[in-house]
Amino acid sequence: MFELEKLVRENVKRHSPYSCARDDYKGREGIFLDANENPYGDLNRYPDPYQKELKAEICRIKKVKEDELFLGNGSDEIIDLVFRIFCIPGRDKIMVFPPTYGMYGVSASVNDTGIISIPLKEDFQVNVEEAEKHFSDPGLKIIFFCSPNNPTGNSMNIKDMEYIIRNFRGIILVDEAYSDFSDKPSLLEKAGKYPNLVVMQTFSKALGLASVRIGMAFSDPQVIQYFNRIKPPYNISTINQATALKRLMEKDITIEQVATIKRERERLRLELGNLRAVRFIYPSDSNFLLVKVSDANQIYEYLTGRGIIVRNRSTVAENCIRITVGTEAENNRLIEELKKAG
Ligand code: PMP
Repeated sequence: MFELEKLVRENVKRHSPYSCARDDYKGREGIFLDANENPYGDLNRYPDPYQKELKAEICRIKKVKEDELFLGNGSDEIIDLVFRIFCIPGRDKIMVFPPTYGMYGVSASVNDTGIISIPLKEDFQVNVEEAEKHFSDPGLKIIFFCSPNNPTGNSMNIKDMEYIIRNFRGIILVDEAYSDFSDKPSLLEKAGKYPNLVVMQTFSKALGLASVRIGMAFSDPQVIQYFNRIKPPYNISTINQATALKRLMEKDITIEQVATIKRERERLRLELGNLRAVRFIYPSDSNFLLVKVSDANQIYEYLTGRGIIVRNRSTVAENCIRITVGTEAENNRLIEELKKAG
């Protein structure tokens, strides 16, 4: 059975958060002599530590409550924080399903946390039976799903994810960085139903703001309050909060860009499929294609030499390159160069 208080590290439960200068006074107007800021300029004040305005808009769009949302300095910060809430260094473990996003492993290593790796099956779905064998391991704290998965591009079966959410007594983090490019439903609406589920999304992909660094975590308020307790107080800059809010107001731009990217993805699939070097193109619910080629190292070098940078994933998926869907012109250049290669 899931019992949050049993999972959270004791030091995190005891921890008293940094008290921000503006925690006591919520007004916007006033003479602010409390935070040792420079009194001159436009960007002289510390940002809102709880990003109230931005969160209100996200909550309206996603139909969640403010205490069910946490914002991190990119999803990468959220990944790191989830380790720090739950995993005792040198003792605890996480579970991942490789090949998958590398930061789960990197954060595990930084936080001195063990990794149970259960490779995806040939169809790139989770091996539930193998995963289940470890559920009774008391050190296993978090299971990371990536859906749609990077670098394979496919979504995980919802039934498998729900089975694991229901049967594992720890935290399940579902990374939905690419879900806007998928026609399959998000697990977001289930975040209220399962107290052990954390759904993560980002401004870096469909919302086009990778340089702004904002990730979103949706979960039960009891889980969210632990993120707030341990985060660096001013983790999202004023400029970034404002830029993200502006982008949410430009909903039509996002819708149009996502539609174009999905259309280009399918055009790329057709065009690449005609090339001799291409062996297989995996189905994709994301903004990239995983492509099996005759010789990934050779094609990677060839394209790099022509100023086209793709990701060589042959170390994790044999002879595979991962190609992000670019603009129409960029995709045309890619196809042109690959045709020349013969
Ligand atoms: N999750 C996945 C699956 C990713 O592929 C990436 C980045 N490529 C991220 C998260 C990182 O997102 P952010 O920019 O929000 O840190």
